[in-house]
Amino acid sequence: MNLSKFNKSVTLNQTLSKHNWFNVGGNAEILFVPEDIKDLIGLLKSKPKKYEIYPIGAGSNILVSDKGIKGITLITKKLNQISIDNFGVITAQAGAVDADVARFARDQERTGLEFLVGIPGTIGGGIKMNSGAFGAEFKDILIDVKAINNLGEIKTFSNKELQMGYRKIGLSKEWIFYEARFKSSKDSKDKITTKMRRIIHLRKEAQPTAVKTGGSTFKNPINKKAWKLIDEAGCRGLQNGDAMISEKHCNFIINLKKSTSQEIEELAQMVQDKVFEKSGIRLDWEIQRVGIK
Ligand SMILES: Cc1cc2nc3c(=O)[nH]c(=O)nc-3n(C[C@H](O)[C@H](O)[C@H](O)COP(=O)(O)OP(=O)(O)OC[C@H]3O[C@@H](n4cnc5c(N)ncnc54)[C@H](O)[C@@H]3O)c2cc1C
Repeated sequence: MNLSKFNKSVTLNQTLSKHNWFNVGGNAEILFVPEDIKDLIGLLKSKPKKYEIYPIGAGSNILVSDKGIKGITLITKKLNQISIDNFGVITAQAGAVDADVARFARDQERTGLEFLVGIPGTIGGGIKMNSGAFGAEFKDILIDVKAINNLGEIKTFSNKELQMGYRKIGLSKEWIFYEARFKSSKDSKDKITTKMRRIIHLRKEAQPTAVKTGGSTFKNPINKKAWKLIDEAGCRGLQNGDAMISEKHCNFIINLKKSTSQEIEELAQMVQDKVFEKSGIRLDWEIQRVGIK
């Protein structure tokens, strides 16, 4: 790999713990933080094919292995441009923070994106997870997304082509999103602000704030709430080393201080077992576990 060509954006053996909300994980063999989309496409088109690439947005829904990630870890945080056209179509780059996109839409007096204010991720991660809250999800607002794969091929996927379902999409993981378009409609700034304030208030009441967490650990099984099953299995406050099931929201695992990724994984496994014993239901991870096993 011609590192010198991308010397500003590529570094070796960098810790990943500061690139995820849990603050855990080993090193990225190669860390790539592109300055802009041209930089991203340039590297993907010229790198040797053997290097796998793993994208990270805000790292708010991942658990990075203590042994780190092999190949290239892409951090999208600088790809954060947001714009609007004359028809109210909002374009956001993959690394744009969801809350910034919500605030941008509000300032343009456009409604439909308010729910983004409460999701602490980026546009790229949100599309990949079809994230949602308060009755809305990415699927409801996405028009299409531009993506590039490991071979440097570029394609635009429509909302329908992504086959977005509950916290998942039907697209193969080789595709990295870099720019998405969203629909919106006209409303007053006051009404949008009120909706956003309500969302922020409700979240503060229901979820732990200012803690190291990966958000919901498990998906809700059909017609059930994961937090309730975890609570009923007696796991509220359960601890493994410095990893703990939140007292406030049982589906959140918290890194109290210096937890390892392994401690978090073991705790989640303990919860899965206890929930299965109690209810016969095996909880499925929502958090994406990544890196060397
Ligand atoms: C306190 C807290 C509250 C949360 N509340 C909610 C909630 O209400 N609703 C909800 O749905 N989620 C919630 N989450 C989870 C998380 O915020 C969302 O899933 C979010 O959309 C993830 O975005 P991210 O940028 O952090 O993705 P990351 O965690 O960085 O990555 C998640 C997945 O997306 C992939 N990815 C990231 N960027 C790209 C890209 N550009 N192209 C392709 N794939 C990409 C990653 O490879 C990974 O597989 C919460 C998390 C926390 C910590």
